[in-house]
Amino acid sequence: MGAVIEFNRQQTRSVYLDANATTPLLGEVFDAMTPWYLTRLANASSSHTRGREARDAAELARCEVAGLIGAEAGEIVFTSSGTESDNLAIFGTVVDRGAHIITARIEHHAVLYAVERLQQRLGCAVTYLSPDETGAVNPEQVRCALRRNTRLISIMTANNETGVLQPVEEIGRIAREHGILLHTDAVQAAGKVPIDVNQLGCDLLSLSAHKMHGPQGVGALFVRNGLRLDPMLVGGGHETGRRAGTENIAGIVGFGAAAKIARRGFDDGSIRKIKKLRDELESSLLREVERAGINGARARRVPNTANIWLEGAEGGRLIQVLDKVGVAVSGGSACSAGSCVPSHVLLAMGLSPARASASVRFSLSKQTTMEDVDFAIWQVAEAMEQLRAASV
Ligand code: PLP
Repeated sequence: MGAVIEFNRQQTRSVYLDANATTPLLGEVFDAMTPWYLTRLANASSSHTRGREARDAAELARCEVAGLIGAEAGEIVFTSSGTESDNLAIFGTVVDRGAHIITARIEHHAVLYAVERLQQRLGCAVTYLSPDETGAVNPEQVRCALRRNTRLISIMTANNETGVLQPVEEIGRIAREHGILLHTDAVQAAGKVPIDVNQLGCDLLSLSAHKMHGPQGVGALFVRNGLRLDPMLVGGGHETGRRAGTENIAGIVGFGAAAKIARRGFDDGSIRKIKKLRDELESSLLREVERAGINGARARRVPNTANIWLEGAEGGRLIQVLDKVGVAVSGGSACSAGSCVPSHVLLAMGLSPARASASVRFSLSKQTTMEDVDFAIWQVAEAMEQLRAASV
């Protein structure tokens, strides 16, 4: 490769390595959506031809999204986001006072804050599982946490910060043995690793279009046939009574197109390419920068995510320096008003607050190129030299 010597100081580039935050639309997705904004848009509930066409387009997209996860079209409920899907899975199934829920400390806040609300409002009891140092929870912890009144287990398929895959299939077997519902947040796994809801044994699974090169503002929840879901939104009978609100037809069509492309990615080499680039990024960074390490390196991970700890990068300093030179990444701490809170995910894995706050997430997409990766490696190496020199 030789990336580090190939750029000169004047060279500028815009390198987006924050795909786990959101991914740009692919041209094919944009083309599929455009007519549904410009010329063909109608309300899918209308009984005229245009309405029927909009309905048909949404149903086609429903088949594509279902196909990505081995579900039936009727098991897909379109929502506004991954957040709404997580909320709906939890609020839609845990309705009894005092019910018990099992989840993990590494979940997205769309899950954590939803169960917290059930603790406050319904007096639910929640068991929070901690991952081991690799970032994965142990299915046996789930078995040990079961109670007579456990209603729901919610464990994500892949973590958004580390990319670590969770043992959902094994947890699914335990859930089935005990007749307990299993929800999995697959927002960061879908399109990156093959998913089959029957193999996973889950009852509910969350998706979000904008994490797989589809549009922002569209999500989906897989709801297994026969499972009764208490809707959060009531009004019209949209989505077979499970989610009221006029459907976002252009967005749904875009989600369908993105799901189709995502499915293709397992055969056309694009996922393999992303993994090769991610592996190159990790090995080169560890070679170029001393006192650095990969968080979650020993676990199975999605192919696009690298979470790297670099001593001296604390408090978002590296992210700011990289931003100035055109490299967009995100960090192991959430910073606002001058103070930084280390990532709850990295802390739950046992990282010290200092190490968590010195961690940076690089997440690649289908649009990432070798040149992007080379440029980022060079800039990180330069930035770390500066930061470390400034701190002595
Ligand atoms: N779940 C996970 C694991 C995520 O990474 C995200 C977004 O970052 C969400 C849920 C929320 O998805 P959305 O941005 O579509 O609301």
